[in-house]
Amino acid sequence: MRVVVAGAGIAGLVTAIGLHRAGIEVTVLERAPELAPAGAGISLFGNGLTGLAAVGLADQVRALGGRASPSVRGGLRTPDGRWLTSSTDVTGEVQVVHRADLQRVLLEALPADLVRLGVEVAAVDLSSGGVVVRDADGSAVAEGDLLVGADGTGSAVRSIAFGDPGLRYAGWVAWRGITSGLFGVDAIGETWGRGRLFGITLLGDGRVYWFAGARVPAAGRGVAGDGGAGEPPGTELRRRFGRWHRPIPALIDATDDGALLRHEIRTLARPLGSYVTGRAVLVGDAAHPMTPNLGQGGNQAIEDAVTLARMVARAAGPGGAASPRPDLDRTLSGYDAVRRKRVEPIVRRSALLGRLALASRPAAVRVRNLALRAAPSSSATRVARALQRWQPPP
Ligand SMILES: Cc1cc2nc3c(=O)[nH]c(=O)nc-3n(C[C@H](O)[C@H](O)[C@H](O)COP(=O)(O)OP(=O)(O)OC[C@H]3O[C@@H](n4cnc5c(N)ncnc54)[C@H](O)[C@@H]3O)c2cc1C
Repeated sequence: MRVVVAGAGIAGLVTAIGLHRAGIEVTVLERAPELAPAGAGISLFGNGLTGLAAVGLADQVRALGGRASPSVRGGLRTPDGRWLTSSTDVTGEVQVVHRADLQRVLLEALPADLVRLGVEVAAVDLSSGGVVVRDADGSAVAEGDLLVGADGTGSAVRSIAFGDPGLRYAGWVAWRGITSGLFGVDAIGETWGRGRLFGITLLGDGRVYWFAGARVPAAGRGVAGDGGAGEPPGTELRRRFGRWHRPIPALIDATDDGALLRHEIRTLARPLGSYVTGRAVLVGDAAHPMTPNLGQGGNQAIEDAVTLARMVARAAGPGGAASPRPDLDRTLSGYDAVRRKRVEPIVRRSALLGRLALASRPAAVRVRNLALRAAPSSSATRVARALQRWQPPP
């Protein structure tokens, strides 16, 4: 069995690790000419860590992170710093790691020649019952029995081989940053205002990974002073969050402007009817881009990758060397059923949470805050823990 993976993000690399460890021949095609250590932080929850454990990497990833000291308070605040909910442990297990460190651990788990950089998947031919992948010049760059589209939100595999519903702007922009040095905070969690949010987490090395979100008109319809007129991100953030409670303005000041990431949040206009077509299958953001409010995009990408690798390995038989059995098609429909059932409710819940967190009408904000103050913190704990209870297929 030969598998071609498009994209060397979290989904693609974890899929490749799972398949390679099962003895299956795998090639990863990545359009970027190099995998530069970039990005901000990422929260890995119990379910993502269970997935990483299934490919033998959880301990290495745990060693990258640090758990916030139990004395650090966590919860939700209003922009003036008043607590809406607060607890020392609402999320279950969470490791906040630098994406560049996670990428390094994943890359080191694979032979160097397995990831081919600077190769963009531009065309896919599934007519032979297998897969031929071509670049923009039309040259065949890889062939295999199965193509895994792990090429992110703007997936080429999805748009070429699937009935792609296209992307829809969720109505808000997210920023991410890591303080350039150590930064002491006495509380973590999120602050929700009117149409804006700010989140504070701690990396294991004592730097702060923070994120922010704000409702902004879609690009092109942006108005001057509303992020659409080329304002530097640091200036834009200070304008939006400069009067929020401590240490938010200081965190923005402690982060190099050049290291700030700004992304418009996009999801699919409609969920896909299937993550599988012929011998092509989607994993991660290519299958189900979601708003980041539950911090589950990467965790679900890991779950997809581990599930697919295990199911395909089982279909390939011992050593993975056998030619694909007829039951590969059944395996792929099994993957599709189990993953869509798990992920689609998470996509919806994350979008709902985003609408709540970024509510902008004053009356809606008042009702939201009253409801949050009244809700027992144990209900948030229960929801978070239920989401993280996940086991890969045997
Ligand atoms: C503000 C923000 C905060 C977030 N926080 C969290 C969090 O705390 N926890 C969490 O779990 N998730 C979080 N996420 C979501 C998470 O980042 C994504 O879900 C995750 O990175 C998806 O990984 P992926 O491998 O599917 O896609 P990507 O990381 O997008 O990787 C896709 C790869 O494919 C390559 N590629 C693209 N097109 C082609 C092509 N045609 N040919 C070859 N290669 C191609 C790209 O270069 C890239 O390397 C957050 C997202 C945002 C925006």
